[in-house]
Formats: sequence, structure tokens, C-alpha cells
Amino acid sequence: MPKFNIAIDGPSGVGKSTIANILADHYHMIHLDTGAMYRCVAFYLIQNQVDIQNEQELQEALNCIDIHFDGDKVFLNNQDVSSQIRLNEISMAASKISALPLVRNKLVSLQQDIASQKGFILDGRDICTVVLPNAEVKIYMDASSKARAQRRYDEYISKGIDADYEVIFQDIVARDYQDSHREHSPLKVADDAVVIDTSDMTISEVVETIENIIEDIV
Ligand code: C5P
Repeated sequence: MPKFNIAIDGPSGVGKSTIANILADHYHMIHLDTGAMYRCVAFYLIQNQVDIQNEQELQEALNCIDIHFDGDKVFLNNQDVSSQIRLNEISMAASKISALPLVRNKLVSLQQDIASQKGFILDGRDICTVVLPNAEVKIYMDASSKARAQRRYDEYISKGIDADYEVIFQDIVARDYQDSHREHSPLKVADDAVVIDTSDMTISEVVETIENIIEDIV
């Protein structure tokens, strides 16, 4: 396992997970999907009707949450929730609950613990700025909201899932706003991250660009 970490930030739908998975394969590293962790917490809080305004109730609920990964599957208290956490309702809820300091404290320290052994790729909104400010490789992936909505639309259609471009576009705009205007760890570009605008790039072009950056840095 390489003795370095890769941190990737960027807005929703930019393709961070896809790129992180390819890089993880190439460099024999482990991809930790931090967005999936926020989605698990959102799923649990909804399922258990937790009052998120009540700090004590929220903390007690967080103490009952165990998240682990097995390959590309994610388990919440030993239940495989990989598909359920991808529902649109959970995307919006994850964005909302990720603004809560108690939720961030729990997940950020869990992510830091895991990555301390090195050899990890983490993607999210606050990886370069908060979770791994000392990561050896720091990337900010960007793309216009239209390009991101189009990619998600194409992905749904190719999987035979009914999709409405306008709904997807509005959802991306709303999540961008929520993620970049929250008080704690808003989505922003770290000073020392390399910014890649992927709007007009193919997946392999993005991978090649990042591989060149990695080769230069490590
Ligand atoms: O990346 P993904 O869309 O799966 O993330 C779901 C939500 O979790 C995001 O909209 C964001 O609000 C939140 N998130 C976060 N910090 C991270 C990863 C995700 O706040 N590191």
C-alpha cells in the first residue's frame, strides 16, 4: 500500500467517486466514500425519526451508528444500505444533516482515524480543508452545474431509470447552495489544492491529469 493519501473535494455530481475508484485500483489504495457515510447517518436519523434539533437525542442516536464498508457495499449497523442511501430524498437529507457540528465531529474523526495508516483516497466536501489538510495529494474537481446534471441524467438513462433533467439540475443547484453556505466546513477550494475543471473532459482525461499530478508530487 502506498505511503501517501489522496484528498479529493468538489461539488455533488462532479464524478469524485468514479475517479477515486479508478485511482484506487491503479495505485492499490483504498477509496473511502465519505459522502456515503453522511448518507448513512441521514438514513438512520430519518428511519428512527430523530429530532435533530435536540442535541442530546441526536448524540445518543449518533452513538448507536456503526458504519463499515465491504468492497463497494456500505453497511449501517450490519445492514447493507448501499442502494437505499442513493435515493434522492436521502441526498437532500444528507446535505442537510452534514451541516450539524455533532454529525461532522463524529464522521471527521472516524475518517481521520482510518486514513492515518496512509494508502487511502478520500473524497468529499471538506477533505482537503478539514479532514486531511496534510494529505500528500490534494485535488479540487469542478464542473458547471449543467455539465453535472447532464452526466447524472445520462447515467440514469443508461441504467434504464426514468429521469427528468430539470429536476436533477434543480437538485444539484440546491445542494451546491446548501453545501457551500453552511457555517461548518462549507465546500470551498483549499489554498494548496490543484483545481481541475472537468466540464469538458472525459473520465480518462481527468484520470490522466490526476495521475500526472500524483507522479509530480510523490
Ligand atoms: O458525495 P455525496 O453526494 O454522496 O454526499 C452527500 C452529502 O454529504 C453532500 O451533499 C454533502 O452535504 C455531504 N458531505 C459532506 N462532507 C463530505 C462528504 C459529503 O458534507 N466529506
